[in-house]
Amino acid sequence: MNVLKFGGSSVASPQSVDEVLAIVKKSVQKRPSVVVVSAMGGITDMLLMAGRLATVRSDEYKQIIAEIENRFLDYVRKMLPVATQSSTLSMVKQQINSIEDICSSIYILEEMSPRITDKLLSFGELITSSILADKMQAEGMEHCWIDSRELIKTNSKFGYATVSFGITNKLIRQRIDANAYNLYLLPGFIASDEFGNTTTLGRGGSDYTAAIVAAALNAKRIEIWTDVSGMMTADPKQVKNAKPIESISYQEAMELSHFGAKVLYPPTVQPVLRKKIPLWIKNTFAPADHGTLIAENGTDRNQKISGLSSIGNVALLSLEGAGMVGIPGFSKRLFAALASESVNVILITQGSSEHSICVAISENDEYKAANAVNQAFHSEIADGAVYPIKSEKGYSVVALVGNSMVNHPGISGRMFGALGRNGINVRAIAQGSSERNISTVVSAKDLKKALNVLHESFFETSYKQINLFIVGVGNVGSRLLEQLKQQQSYLQDHLKLQVRAIGIANSRTMVFNEDGIDLSSWELKLQEGVAMNLDKFIEQAVLLNKRNSIFIDNTANVAVAETYKHLLRKSISVVTCNKIACSSAYSNYKELKELARNFNSQFLFETNVGAGLPVINTLNDLLRSGDRISTIQAVLSGTLNFVFNKYDGSQPFASIVRQAQTEGYTEPDPRLDLSGTDVMRKILILARETGKPMEIDQIKNVGFLPESCLEGDIENFYKEVEKHENHFKTLLEKAKAEGKRLKYIAMFKEGKASVALQAVSSTSDFYNLDGKDNAVLFYTDRYKEQPLVVKGAGAGAEVTASGIFSDIIRAARV
Ligand code: ADP
Ligand code: ASP
Ligand code: MG
Repeated sequence: MNVLKFGGSSVASPQSVDEVLAIVKKSVQKRPSVVVVSAMGGITDMLLMAGRLATVRSDEYKQIIAEIENRFLDYVRKMLPVATQSSTLSMVKQQINSIEDICSSIYILEEMSPRITDKLLSFGELITSSILADKMQAEGMEHCWIDSRELIKTNSKFGYATVSFGITNKLIRQRIDANAYNLYLLPGFIASDEFGNTTTLGRGGSDYTAAIVAAALNAKRIEIWTDVSGMMTADPKQVKNAKPIESISYQEAMELSHFGAKVLYPPTVQPVLRKKIPLWIKNTFAPADHGTLIAENGTDRNQKISGLSSIGNVALLSLEGAGMVGIPGFSKRLFAALASESVNVILITQGSSEHSICVAISENDEYKAANAVNQAFHSEIADGAVYPIKSEKGYSVVALVGNSMVNHPGISGRMFGALGRNGINVRAIAQGSSERNISTVVSAKDLKKALNVLHESFFETSYKQINLFIVGVGNVGSRLLEQLKQQQSYLQDHLKLQVRAIGIANSRTMVFNEDGIDLSSWELKLQEGVAMNLDKFIEQAVLLNKRNSIFIDNTANVAVAETYKHLLRKSISVVTCNKIACSSAYSNYKELKELARNFNSQFLFETNVGAGLPVINTLNDLLRSGDRISTIQAVLSGTLNFVFNKYDGSQPFASIVRQAQTEGYTEPDPRLDLSGTDVMRKILILARETGKPMEIDQIKNVGFLPESCLEGDIENFYKEVEKHENHFKTLLEKAKAEGKRLKYIAMFKEGKASVALQAVSSTSDFYNLDGKDNAVLFYTDRYKEQPLVVKGAGAGAEVTASGIFSDIIRAARV
């Protein structure tokens, strides 16, 4: 025998029923088959809703019944040949009358007992399977329809009845005979108690019906046909990259379904496991797909983790108090109190201090559970030995499941590392001693992110997704986007990174796309975006709660720099070329670094010094390897180097500064370069990176600009510089006369920093520094006489963008 079960979505429309019948025909060709069907998708919920509305005396229940009727009538009309429709249509009408009768009595009594609920819900499967029987008849598929209530016997626990296997197996074997019919058709989900009352096997229970029948008949195989191509590595509705599991053991399937993988009703595995019947999960809409085989040795040994699943709407109850320590019996009483109210416990944790016990339960049970426990511990609470129970809603349980987790250390480390890096707070943890499951309780708002983070960490060796939020698309930002566009496929192929821009903003507009903004048309998308509001941009980055999020600041804006703390606290990494934050008060710089450390985020600002040159990273590598920096000597202003290299007296000083500005080497305000402020900021950052707590006003700055140049606006600056052409010429001539060149040099030595324009001779490392280059000399314990030199283009949008790019990759590969 084959046993095939078709779920609600498989029988939801006349077209899908055609698929179902094709699958059934194929099965019958191989061997006699039993087909179990659920109610047409959505009907069970509608029946329940009608009943609930009737209990509160809302007439709307009639509309719901009318909708149910219309769906069934329409289904019949579209599915059956006109000539054979009438008897089926009258059967539907008759059954609808019964539903109306039940609902009107609920309406009168204002009460829906579990017994009546089961009776009401049974109509979904009864009507659907009867219509299917007529369809089979019309197609010439000879078969026998049996009311499952005559086969499956249960106790009277309505809503979730327990099967009496002895009698059930006997009845199934008596009534289903491969010699009598090649094809049997049964409604799933429904059963009856010893008094003949209708019972149900619990929501989703049609899977179980099929398993009970398969086990009783020692079936060759059981197939659960649904709307996905197997049991997947995670719920495909939550995790887009979930993929079907080819094969899995009974225990793992059970564990996954217990922890929320809705594709299989949890009790289904038990009966087939005992008989070792292979269970397949297949897709009605893609029957050629492999699907999942659940069997005794069904684990792919290379895969330590089989899947992830989750349970939503969870409440946490914590019983705490010093009076619990070392006294046996507390947990027994806690669980007895919960059991007395039929509260199902999903997860339990107890610290070894025994000071508290925490249990996760369904939110629906929270009220009665808390009451029961408070009552049970009433006298201890009065004495102050324990506190009244603390209950909190809004949680989810996420479970990692796999047979081969046993004896593989490091899996929980990887799990919590991935969650931590993404700012997901873990409220409770439980690992079954079977080591087949590690469960964590996280806030419901983090559920989707947690599932995706873990899925990426355990199943997507293919690539890691990086989500960027970019502010500033001027010179640097636009080049960065260009580079990203060019490199996207390289990063995916070679570094296994899928880098996507989720949010982009300039000072006027902002745009978001959760699936990544198309980088070939970002300008247009940004133009069509909404008005820029920095707070809203940040709020959206936080709300989207994407894994591996990185915020990129390509501005020189104070307000943007002030958002970093909030972002880092939310575990969103920050990559910035904006020097404001790192050169602000030392306490601020320090706090940012600490926040990054505490919240597992990255705070990277390599481009603050020397644009794309690896200055800060080199310094940190030296320190990390145990070296000590004694002196840093550097030309850190690409602008000033460009200006003094170019200035030979043939052109006025002012016009060279203007050229530097138009070519994009200067800060947006060139006075920051010319006054030495920009260089001060850079040497300050380097000094701080060596571990020296320094403030900007501790840096000595010997200015070379006449004071009037720094007054007023930028235009006034240029006018004043023009006016003082002689001043600059004198500086130049004096240096020339001594065979020297002018260089603006920053120094950090013996804990002190200074910046000044200096005339250097041909023996200096800086004498031949070309164009807008920067050079940094590190004198250290290891590099005593000959310094370690980092030298190259130290200004310009292209190299700055590439420096930001490297920081993004660095943050992504943590
Ligand atoms: P049926 O109506 O066929 O019984 P269900 O809706 O009960 O179907 O179960 C199928 C659904 O289970 C899928 O559409 C999917 O959204 C959900 N699901 C949750 N977790 C998983 C998982 N790990 N693998 C596959 N599907 C899952
Ligand atoms: N129709 C029932 C439900 O919706 C049983 C099932 O679909 O398996 O819960
Ligand atoms: Mg189901």
